[in-house]
Amino acid sequence: MKIFLGDKLVDEKDAVVSVFDHGLLYGDGVFEGIRAYNGRVFLLDEHIERLYDSAQAIALKIPMTRKQMKQAVVDTCKANEISDGYIRLVVTRGKGTLGLNPYLCDKAEVIIIAAKIQLYPQELYDNGLKIVTVGTIRNHPEAINPRIKSLNYLNNVIAKIEAINAGCMECLMLNHKGEVAEASGDNIFAVKNGVITTPPSTCGALEGLTRNKVMELAREAGYEMREAPMARYDLYVADEVFLTGTAAEIISVVDVDKREIGGGKPGEITRKLAELYHQAARSEGTPIE
Ligand code: PMP
Repeated sequence: MKIFLGDKLVDEKDAVVSVFDHGLLYGDGVFEGIRAYNGRVFLLDEHIERLYDSAQAIALKIPMTRKQMKQAVVDTCKANEISDGYIRLVVTRGKGTLGLNPYLCDKAEVIIIAAKIQLYPQELYDNGLKIVTVGTIRNHPEAINPRIKSLNYLNNVIAKIEAINAGCMECLMLNHKGEVAEASGDNIFAVKNGVITTPPSTCGALEGLTRNKVMELAREAGYEMREAPMARYDLYVADEVFLTGTAAEIISVVDVDKREIGGGKPGEITRKLAELYHQAARSEGTPIE
């Protein structure tokens, strides 16, 4: 496998970073998870925009232009003959000292990995997921703002541990006010009487690109689509609940804290949106050529 590291493609065995890299020592950096479908990179400009915004928010200077970054993603897919796959784009603060001071790190390190995707088992797409609310809340917006896609995912990892310990593959995270934020690695939506609602990013959600695309597709298809604060109650009494994310795409939730949703089966609007999303994903994007 070829990995993009620094400013070029190298063999996987040569793709190594320093043990003094602050991405490793402190989770100091930003990242993106991107999908390629059918020889095209889906939502590439949007991912690059979010990456640079996250970097700006943590005062990290990416040593490449957006255009160069875009080309590097395409080149990494090409070098690995990936036409359908998952791309991980990481920018760390780079090599520094053992101290926290990021200004002592010489140069940000860019890493791009393009690989085959491992999806949730098909059975979960057909039958839906069960989720539980976990005790770990989403980051307070004045700590690491949840809109920053930072390398520091420990909060989400702890939430995921709680979910797995409770026998679930995903969970519901609330914000510091007890409002619905998102899942540990996906955004959340509810459908009630034909109206689709998802929490705004100010409630503690990452501005998911799958979320944004699904909102756009829902509006185009004529559904009423709202961004509004939500309580757990809104999920418990929903007709349908689903999660969105680059890797998971759209996956139905049929049980929230042991409240069965929609008779325990994926709902019609969830299915319709998943179909529209797959159509878009397979026909739009930046060509890998
Ligand atoms: N929330 C969190 C915490 C995530 O990590 C992710 C995906 N990485 C998402 C939401 C979904 O975002 P996207 O649709 O851009 O993948």
